[in-house]
Amino acid sequence: MTRPSPATDELAAELRAGNRRALAKAITLVESTRADHQREAQRLLELLLPHTGHAIRIGVSGVPGVGKSTFIEAFGLYLISRGKRVAVLAVDPSSARTGGSILGDKTRMPSLSTAPEAFIRPSPSAGSFGGVTRRTREALLVCEAAGYDVVIVETVGVGQSEFAVASMVDFFLVLLLAGAGDELQGIKKGILELADALAINKADGDNVRRAQQAAAEYRSALRLFRPASPSWDPVVMTISALEQRGMDVIWSTVLDHRTRLEASGELSHKRRDQLQAWFWTMIDDGLKRHFMARDDVRRLLPDMEAAIASAKLTPTEAARRLLALLDPSRREAKKAVGSRQ
Ligand code: GDP
Repeated sequence: MTRPSPATDELAAELRAGNRRALAKAITLVESTRADHQREAQRLLELLLPHTGHAIRIGVSGVPGVGKSTFIEAFGLYLISRGKRVAVLAVDPSSARTGGSILGDKTRMPSLSTAPEAFIRPSPSAGSFGGVTRRTREALLVCEAAGYDVVIVETVGVGQSEFAVASMVDFFLVLLLAGAGDELQGIKKGILELADALAINKADGDNVRRAQQAAAEYRSALRLFRPASPSWDPVVMTISALEQRGMDVIWSTVLDHRTRLEASGELSHKRRDQLQAWFWTMIDDGLKRHFMARDDVRRLLPDMEAAIASAKLTPTEAARRLLALLDPSRREAKKAVGSRQ
């Protein structure tokens, strides 16, 4: 027998009091695609919103095998030893299609996942990339309201995921390996511009010198970029997640970054900009969904795509004709229909 779900107010109160089941339930609600769950989730988030914003939000990115889970386990345990409570979330662009390569589960972070001071949530696996991103953002707010001091958002270094994660965190850390060329690591120039810190992982055993050399190379590569922040120059360091070395350096870098961005007022600006960007992403997504759900659009879309592919229409003109369907006073809609043959 399932008990009736407690009212949203009660769920919020339990979550704020540190009840883990309430936290898991709240995130499940946020992740649900059901319309009634979505309404309840938004009501819950409204209640929680005044209690959000206090955590340090850290993004961690890097290709599979670089050592993200080993690092998050070591860093999370380090933070717990410093009296912090840590939540770990994930954005995995492959999850929407394949069920995900980021599991965030007990096998990846065995000690952290059993620590009472930690909360680990794998990437939501249903829905579009935009949907996955929204749910991670909302899960982040829920974790903050539940009192976590540090929220780590993990992503694999592919596609738009780094940009999505960088747009929801205060500090973006990229893990790299020594000895692999940039292309091998899938490192795009863009990701260096996003990074607040680069950590060359696996700087242990025979690999220490190579890691230090790679760090020096990345330092000079970074000099070519104008720093994204007026109050922060990205830092490059070497660490060993396996030997749990460098965790203190990373934490002091995160704190230093925070102190500087707070002092300059940049942190609150950054967070405000992130909220505005999120808002507009939701508007864009909503408009597109609404548009695509129209019968006339659905009917005409294949023809428009075919006309573009066969160079009969420019994408601009095809888009203009389809968008004209939104305006009932215009004749363009008729024209679009007429162009089917
Ligand atoms: P992820 O795919 O990015 O999450 O990478 P994992 O954390 O699963 O690590 C991939 C492999 O690299 C595992 O076999 C780890 O034991 C190993 N590894 C991770 N960090 C280090 C490190 O600092 N030094 C060494 N030598 N191996 C590491």
